[in-house]
Amino acid sequence: MHSPTNDTTALQARRARLLGPAYRLFYEEPLHLVRGEGVWLHDTQGKRYLDAYNNVASVGHAHPHVVEAIARQARTLNTHTRYLHEGILDYAERLLSHMPPALGHAMFTCSGSEANDLALRIARAHTGAQGLIITRYAYHGVTAPLAEASPSLGALMRLGHTVRTVPAPQPVGQDPAEVGRRFAHGVREAIAELAAVGMRPAALLVDTVFSSDGVFTAPAGFLQEAVQAVREAGGLLIADEVQSGFGRTGEAFWGFERHGLVPDIVTLGKPMGNGHPVAGLAVQPGVLAAFAATCRYFNTFGGNPVSMAAASAVLDVIEREGLQANAQVVGTYLHGRLAALRQRHPQVGEVRGAGLFVGLALVQPDAAGPPPGQLAARVVNALRQRGVLLSATGPAADTLKIRPPLVFQREHADLLADTLDEVLADPALHRPA
Ligand code: PMP
Repeated sequence: MHSPTNDTTALQARRARLLGPAYRLFYEEPLHLVRGEGVWLHDTQGKRYLDAYNNVASVGHAHPHVVEAIARQARTLNTHTRYLHEGILDYAERLLSHMPPALGHAMFTCSGSEANDLALRIARAHTGAQGLIITRYAYHGVTAPLAEASPSLGALMRLGHTVRTVPAPQPVGQDPAEVGRRFAHGVREAIAELAAVGMRPAALLVDTVFSSDGVFTAPAGFLQEAVQAVREAGGLLIADEVQSGFGRTGEAFWGFERHGLVPDIVTLGKPMGNGHPVAGLAVQPGVLAAFAATCRYFNTFGGNPVSMAAASAVLDVIEREGLQANAQVVGTYLHGRLAALRQRHPQVGEVRGAGLFVGLALVQPDAAGPPPGQLAARVVNALRQRGVLLSATGPAADTLKIRPPLVFQREHADLLADTLDEVLADPALHRPA
């Protein structure tokens, strides 16, 4: 076994040699982490970092209850879903109890990409249609059909011939009702574009907090008109809860709930196993029937007893430690602290989001400063140097994306806001591009 090395340059060269050129590291000075605990990550030098970004380790890094559940089940049995086992049923029951009653079946995969891929196949089988409508800067996964429905992968990423995009539900002007109207207008246009080439929509697939588009959550309910439009055209709503699910938005367990909608399919991932690779979907039984009539479903690792033990332990922690309520309370506090920075820093624009999913848009108050995307990159790197980890999102990467483990407390929100305040006060950050 290798001992952790401090030589990041050598490690980077070794990565490039072994892993090739498709991977990317975070930060100008990449981090070499060796340990995590709660909201903290530790590097090889013994320095600790406040993790304000990692929504996978949602109940906290290395949560002992989850670690123990995984170890216990791994010691006992790990097989697959072609034998009877209570673990998958107990978990399915618990998961579905958090969903609207219409979502009666649960299926399991190993990644959010596979969950979206399966959802797309189910939607196409049910509707007999092929078209897929997504937002303009969406990310939905790594499989071929989803990479072709993930424009945020880069300008050179070709969209699939069945895919049409709509502008993100961004507020324009002062009228909140306009957000939903404009978004629905975009969806109707996408439906018309599909019709022009003889296609119908199978689904509108949206991340319910529009994370990669820049985090758009307001006003509550704005998705309704667009969903009505897609359903009138025979398509389904697939709510991608891979980022927003499992209590993160505080007010509700799922991001779609703020829109007062019942999706046809809900896809899940990232926080579901607190780092153990488990993902899946919930689906309305009537929607699943056509898919099941045409093929069987088997996923070697998806839904195995160890994954189900991990996912079940995550629900235990969310429930026992009241993490949804914590996301609401601490998220509201964090929102307030970040919004107050506007008084001191003209570069701080809108603070958006819900619960512990926050987007802070940076702006360029005068022509002398750097463009917001460049400022955001400087802020992210300066925060990393001061021991706070987050990232940037949106088409221009100008929105700070703050998405900490749900065990985040007020003191952590204060540390984040105070450090951001310090960083923004540094004149070096505002030098021209
Ligand atoms: N949907 C969304 C909204 C995501 O953010 C991601 C991952 N970033 C995925 C799907 C894909 O999940 P995974 O990486 O587990 O395949």
